[in-house]
Amino acid sequence: MSLEQAIVDFRGQFRGEVIDPEHAGYDQARKVYNGMIDRRPRLIAKCTDVADVITAVRMAKDNDLKVSIRGGGHNAGGLGVCDDGLVIDLSPIKYVRVDPSARTVLVGAGCKWGDVDHATHAFGLAVPSGIISTTGVAGLTLGGGMGHLTRKYGLTVDNLLSVDMVLADGSFVVASADENSDLFWAVRGGGGNFGIVTSFLFEAHPVDTVCAGPMLWNLDDAPAVLKWYREFIKQAPEEMNGFFAVLGVPPGPPFPEELHLRTMCGIVWCYQGSMEQANTILEPIRNHRPPAFEFFAQMPFPMLQSLFDPIYPTGLQWYWKADFFNEISDAAIEKHLKHASLLPSWQSTMHLYPVNGKVNRVGEADTAFSYRDAVWSEVIVGVDPDPANGQKITDWARGYYDALHPFGAGGAYVNFMMEEGEDRIRATYRGNYNRLAAIKAKYDPGNFFRVNQNVRPAA
Ligand SMILES: Cc1cc2nc3c(=O)[nH]c(=O)nc-3n(C[C@H](O)[C@H](O)[C@H](O)COP(=O)(O)OP(=O)(O)OC[C@H]3O[C@@H](n4cnc5c(N)ncnc54)[C@H](O)[C@@H]3O)c2cc1C
Repeated sequence: MSLEQAIVDFRGQFRGEVIDPEHAGYDQARKVYNGMIDRRPRLIAKCTDVADVITAVRMAKDNDLKVSIRGGGHNAGGLGVCDDGLVIDLSPIKYVRVDPSARTVLVGAGCKWGDVDHATHAFGLAVPSGIISTTGVAGLTLGGGMGHLTRKYGLTVDNLLSVDMVLADGSFVVASADENSDLFWAVRGGGGNFGIVTSFLFEAHPVDTVCAGPMLWNLDDAPAVLKWYREFIKQAPEEMNGFFAVLGVPPGPPFPEELHLRTMCGIVWCYQGSMEQANTILEPIRNHRPPAFEFFAQMPFPMLQSLFDPIYPTGLQWYWKADFFNEISDAAIEKHLKHASLLPSWQSTMHLYPVNGKVNRVGEADTAFSYRDAVWSEVIVGVDPDPANGQKITDWARGYYDALHPFGAGGAYVNFMMEEGEDRIRATYRGNYNRLAAIKAKYDPGNFFRVNQNVRPAA
């Protein structure tokens, strides 16, 4: 049967929208969050339910079509979309069901984190996720998931109880600690290598309002602040999360006009407790280096989660590089200062997310996410609205990365990587790589799911 005829038959069986290059919505549907990505799939299948996912997988398999899986479309490497193949787009599968007595949350694979925060907040609950509410639940979770609640409650995968999945042969399985436990181990950090997750069951935690927001300092203060921060975050109460950043000050409220667009450094705090306790914990840094500006307030958790959304609308140019760190030496601080001072645009940034606390108490081989001994996950992000500046932001991120990488722990968080090749993926999974490759061989021996940070099936 020709591919054209197969597509006609597919349209008859599929309930969601099927978008081909002739469709008026094609250009919109193939766009992803990163404006640098410009891929032209043969077909985009917007799945409405699990049956649609199964139908799409079978069609691609029967017709030898490359497949990419799209959740929230936020992957900076553009791994949610592919050239010439079939995009299995899960965005219509959107539902969140909170069970307040069990403190669990069932989430459809098309949800973004803002959907989850909105639903759980009504019950005074939250699932640990990231720092931007428009990021997809699926991709963020499957790579690990780090954000404002990480030190207290662990990575997003540490709060995952089970997943529903469609495998490469079109079959449907549930994976949890009790069922297909090898697959459940692999999806907690192994990304989209093993199948298409159609729903996630998470454990939620009592989080209502938090004391949170950024403190900013002039860049000259960065060495003093970083030296204080590197000791503080290793022993701070786990209720206190704080990521260090190099940033350009957004040109709008609440930031005072004289700071607009200035390159500064900062720490974005999130404390689960009273303002009085937070102020006691933060008194040493306020005394040591009084911030040039701070916006630290009590706020509903979903407000913190969406605080930075306006800075990063969809469609900007993005290029990023990443590493894990166990320490921040004085020599590394000098490099940070040098490359921070070269920030190529105000939206470009460098973040050091703490991944200690609860994350470190899970064993290295307990989930696919292997860097359980790291203290920070760093991401260096070049961002600019203008495609003409694409090379400029890329060069800056690469130069910064090259200077800092020698101080790193070896690997990087998969969700902060572009397409960087097998060596980098092996360095990231370390001792877990061979087990991942064996599980890949069991569930996807033909490497059907390969548009991802790919783990090749073991021979
Ligand atoms: C602005 C911004 C902020 C971010 N902040 C954070 C943060 O705070 N913390 C953090 O941990 N990460 C963060 N990230 C990184 C984020 O985790 C990754 O970009 C992630 O890939 C996004 O997931 P998505 O579903 O939106 O991506 P998509 O582009 O839709 O998918 C990316 C890949 O994930 C896999 N995938 C997606 N859906 C499925 C599925 N249902 N089943 C199987 N595989 C699937 C596929 O391999 C796919 O190629 C951020 C990214 C951006 C752009």
